[in-house]
Amino acid sequence: MTDPIADFGSIALAAPAARRSRQARVAWGSNIVTIGGDAPVRVQSMTNTDTVDAVGTAIQVKELAQAGSELVRITVNTPEAAEAVPYIREQLDRMGIDVPLVGDFHYNGHRLLTEHPAMAQALSKYRINPGNVGKGDKKDKQFAMMVEAAAKWNKAVRIGVNWGSLDQDLLASLMDNNAKRAEPWDAKQVMVQALVTSAIDSASYARELGLDPNQIIISCKVSGVQDLITVYRALAARCDYALHLGLTEAGMATKGTVASATALAVLLQEGIGDTIRVSLTPQPGEARTQEVLIALELLQALGLRSFNPSVTACPGCGRTTSTTFQELAKQIDDFLRAQMPVWKAKYPGVEGLKVAVMGCIVNGPGESKHADIGISLPGTGEAPAAPVFIDGQKALTLRGEGIAAEFHQIVENYIEKRFGAH
Ligand code: SF4
Repeated sequence: MTDPIADFGSIALAAPAARRSRQARVAWGSNIVTIGGDAPVRVQSMTNTDTVDAVGTAIQVKELAQAGSELVRITVNTPEAAEAVPYIREQLDRMGIDVPLVGDFHYNGHRLLTEHPAMAQALSKYRINPGNVGKGDKKDKQFAMMVEAAAKWNKAVRIGVNWGSLDQDLLASLMDNNAKRAEPWDAKQVMVQALVTSAIDSASYARELGLDPNQIIISCKVSGVQDLITVYRALAARCDYALHLGLTEAGMATKGTVASATALAVLLQEGIGDTIRVSLTPQPGEARTQEVLIALELLQALGLRSFNPSVTACPGCGRTTSTTFQELAKQIDDFLRAQMPVWKAKYPGVEGLKVAVMGCIVNGPGESKHADIGISLPGTGEAPAAPVFIDGQKALTLRGEGIAAEFHQIVENYIEKRFGAH
């Protein structure tokens, strides 16, 4: 008879691959955000306010930064918007928000960056879209003007190619070359080649113009999950610049969240991507910060970063017909998140805490034992008792109406005891 253990072979534990990019620095004051190299994968976001509304934009930047965005991009599309940028920066500084601001430029960035030096200085990074810097012989000249501004003010640059605004001359020339191939590529393969070539050639030109390679970050955004994976694999194989990763025009709500998470997770697991943005279309009334929360959850789920204590909760089923455990799971999750701004400083390491809130005896005790603190609530027909597990051991059993409040207190005491200064 064969030995089932001997035949099993070894098991490789899954983990994100190491990244190998250069490291860029994006700074404001003493806040230096490193991107790439051995830095953690950074989270960024973008405002949807009119930049001319300096107060409204500063407030939204503050909200995004407080939600966890480490860089915030703002549109700089007109001379009026350019004039507003230093005021936005000033208001943020007054509020103690030192998040670096990134200027998003299209079409007229060369003029704005040259004619509004206070704006050029107030920004920490410029996003340049090589497909939107100008046509014909103006293209190189206008691109150069933007890069020269970055070199002059010592700012980082993101060369951000987007398939919605891909350099059409480059695409046409690659299509012509493709037609001459003995076995022409699929049109999509040529599109990938055009995106990657546009980004890398633009970066090379920026270096010729005097930009340090460590000042350059690259992105090539498309809106299809498989296309994004294809493009970034090709990009990562051909350059070592820090990569900004995001699925452009991901869409709304569930679709946008799932599509972004799917594409980004595959690439991040392969070690591709140094900073991410989730480009979610907000639903009416939805906070802009939602895109930041999804990005944080994504990085935490992959084990790349830790931002908040995690709450493991079962989905519930026919064994638990009351909503008690759903309510308790939500209360605990809300409570932990609400406390984090204070706890981060008071209880170092608390973001790694694991709490389990389970609906019945089937998986409740087992899952609770795997968490730092877990509670297994009584399912339908079970005795009205909720065993609480601390550090893998059954510590006590809660009963009656006050289970939620008592469990809350237990969590708080545990945090104080384990993470507080002693
Ligand atoms: S732990 Fe119990 S209530 Fe929760 S999903 Fe499993 S069987 Fe259902």
